[in-house]
Amino acid sequence: MTYPAEDTVVSYPTGSVETGATVLHVDTMPDGRRAVLLDVTSVHPVDAGWPDQGADHAVLRAGSVDTPVLDCVVGATDGTALHVGRDIPVGKGTEGWAFVVVHVVAGDCALAEGDAVVVAVDAGFRARTSAGHTACHLASLALNLAVANRWKKEPRADALGTPDFDGTAIDVSLITENASTDTYRLGKSLRKKGFLTDGIDDDLPALTELINTTLAEWVATDAEVHIDRDGDRLTDRRYWACALPGRPVRIPCGGTHVSALGELGRVLVTLSTHDVAGTSVLTMATTVDAAASA
Ligand SMILES: [Zn+2]
Repeated sequence: MTYPAEDTVVSYPTGSVETGATVLHVDTMPDGRRAVLLDVTSVHPVDAGWPDQGADHAVLRAGSVDTPVLDCVVGATDGTALHVGRDIPVGKGTEGWAFVVVHVVAGDCALAEGDAVVVAVDAGFRARTSAGHTACHLASLALNLAVANRWKKEPRADALGTPDFDGTAIDVSLITENASTDTYRLGKSLRKKGFLTDGIDDDLPALTELINTTLAEWVATDAEVHIDRDGDRLTDRRYWACALPGRPVRIPCGGTHVSALGELGRVLVTLSTHDVAGTSVLTMATTVDAAASA
């Protein structure tokens, strides 16, 4: 039983939901479930470092037998063992390590090295998650625009050239079906970087309206969305690319997306703040109403 020496080839960045593949390795995990490694996969795995988009729903089909993929995570191997998720001891691109997509299946799964399978992803779930992810990027760019006048020092710029509030203050980003939730810490470290938090609670209705107006303008352009990539392997750099009005944008992103903004129909955010252990936390909840696209 040898481990793969190269990173898994991934087809989900192009929108693929079905791929023929060969089983390269099957490991038994500490919890008794099995880890199936393939040469190529269309299943989007959850990333250990930035787990914003969850795993696709999928099955591994061999003949008439469908093996459900219970979870799909990123793993790494140096040829002697498989390390999964947070237990990966090295960074991506480390010499001598292969980064692989780990398809977690039940412990009684009969798949073995050398088997041919068809990787079949739940296309509906993928489409709704992709909509949530594209909307998440748009909403964070629109949020940056809405709060751009609150900086007294110039922070780093986002892909549109706006002060990058999202990139500076983001705590957690969670992408789900037709939705995303982003939380931002409005604490001392953000204020030190020059962001004025005064009166932001009273400003939330006006900021919400500004963001939703920007989002409606962007969705109405039906701009094309695509993934730029340096290669077809799991760890090759990928970027979300979209021609927003006046400026094409490119954001590093390992997720999946719609192919045009019109598919989103209507994107709306709501903003709220609450206190977490003495620090004010801003939550932006973004929802997609694809049915509004007609
Ligand atoms: Zn992304």
